[in-house]
Amino acid sequence: AKKSRRGGFVMFSAEMGSDIRERVRLLQSLRSAVESERLFIVYQPQVDLITNAVVGLEALIRWRNEDGTFVPPDRFIPLAEASGMIIAIGDWVLRMACHELVRLQGQGAKDIRMSVNVSQIQFRNPEFIDKLKSALSDTSIQPECLELEITESVAMEDADFMLETLHSVRELGISIAIDDFGTGYSSLSQLRQLPIDRLKIDRAFVSELSDDVMGGHIASMVIELGRNLQLKVIAEGIESEAQAARLKQLGCHEGQGYLYAKPMTSVLLKDWLKERGA
Ligand code: C2E
Ligand code: CA
Ligand code: CA
Ligand code: CA
Repeated sequence: AKKSRRGGFVMFSAEMGSDIRERVRLLQSLRSAVESERLFIVYQPQVDLITNAVVGLEALIRWRNEDGTFVPPDRFIPLAEASGMIIAIGDWVLRMACHELVRLQGQGAKDIRMSVNVSQIQFRNPEFIDKLKSALSDTSIQPECLELEITESVAMEDADFMLETLHSVRELGISIAIDDFGTGYSSLSQLRQLPIDRLKIDRAFVSELSDDVMGGHIASMVIELGRNLQLKVIAEGIESEAQAARLKQLGCHEGQGYLYAKPMTSVLLKDWLKERGA
């Protein structure tokens, strides 16, 4: 039963039933996608807004069906989280991304870091730090080149446990970015306690940026906050030169978005980096 708005309980409707059946179906095909290796990773470049140099890559997971259609991560990640599959999937993404960076560095791409999204379920798992350690040693990635992206809500909850895990990550030499920053409700005092390196301005606030002075209040606030707390700031979802110019003017360090490049497969990325001389 689902709690209704008035506080009472309503029974499952036919619509909810079909929603559940749909979720079960999706979960079954996710299992078989994992087994038949139909998951892969794409990489989106992150650039220095002043020099335009490539400074990082974000690993983003993709699921391609047998018929060639894609299931967006926003749809299957929540399911992978609810079923616990995210632990194995997330560990796989982490290892693949580390391998990719080491390979790119071998091909001459220096001074580039790899950012990996980490779900709250992974982060809360007691084995997370051990898994991180073994990914580091198995792939021989330099920890300084690895960054984990966790969402604002994750960083703020269960303060003690989270804080401990964040510290352990940092002790390994890995940096931490707060993803989708500005969408949560973290207070300044909470934020300044966190051992983090970077704030990532959510796409929603970047798209609000326009040439006029009124747009982009939140983006400029986050940049200011970053300045005060001595954190790096990156903006995601930059699609226009105007947005990039405004962010740069506001003092944002780095950016990521279709203006620079869409997420690319490993093969395309290699050529893209070569063309940029990175
Ligand atoms: P996110 O971490 O906030 O990732 C940014 C999303 O914005 C990505 O969507 C990216 O493709 C998209 N994007 C980048 N630049 C632009 C732009 O200029 N314009 C627009 N409109 N979109 C842009 P994607 O790849 O569909 O991923 C969606 C979400 O799924 C991610 O949001 C992240 O929360 C989750 N996700 C993706 N891969 C993983 C993963 O390996 N592990 C976990 N836990 N979550 C993942
Ligand atoms: Ca992210
Ligand atoms: Ca984000
Ligand atoms: Ca987002």
